[in-house]
This record gives sequence, C-alpha cells and structure tokens, in this order.
Amino acid sequence: MAEQGSVVSQQNLDRSCWVCFATDEDDRTAEWVRPCRCRGSTKWVHQACLQRWVDEKQRGNSTARVACPQCNAEYLIVFPKLGELCFLNYKTRPHQIRRRP
Ligand SMILES: [Zn+2]
Ligand SMILES: [Zn+2]
Repeated sequence: MAEQGSVVSQQNLDRSCWVCFATDEDDRTAEWVRPCRCRGSTKWVHQACLQRWVDEKQRGNSTARVACPQCNAEYLIVFPKLGELCFLNYKTRPHQIRRRP
C-alpha cells in the first residue's frame, strides 16, 4: 500500500529558495516566506533573499512595481513603520519582513 500520509510533510522538506537555491539542508536557520501564488517548491523563498531581490528590482525607487517572476503575482509592499518592510499579496496573508541592520 502507498503511504499517502507522507506527501504533505515532504513538501516542506523539499523546499528551496528561488533566489539563492539553498534548501533547508543548506541553511537550517533561515526564515522562509511564501509571498505569492507559486506552487510546489518554487513558492518558497528566504525572507532575507526576497527582501534583497526586491531592493535590487526597485533600485531605490520604493514605488516601483515588483512581481513574482514565476507566477506574476505582484508584491504589494508597504512601509508600516520606518525600517520595516511588509510584503502583501491580494490572495495571501501579509508577511512581515523585518529589516536587519
Ligand atoms: Zn535564499
Ligand atoms: Zn510566484
């Protein structure tokens, strides 16, 4: 008999960051976020990597639009407080992105 119960838990073990391609095996302390509609392992990205990626896309222009390269979901970025980034998406819960010095 197939072990159907193991499918769900394996999804989180297979995740890898689409920015730096590291997996849980490579960096067990990194924080993960799912800011968009991507499915499978490509939906995962490191919080720090996504923040850096968005910074590079915007190049200092905080009003520039940034979208996921895979699913084209637009990242809605707001600044609730100085020094704190928040990634929102219209279909998902907001992910707090904390800036580190
Ligand atoms: Zn990463
Ligand atoms: Zn996506």
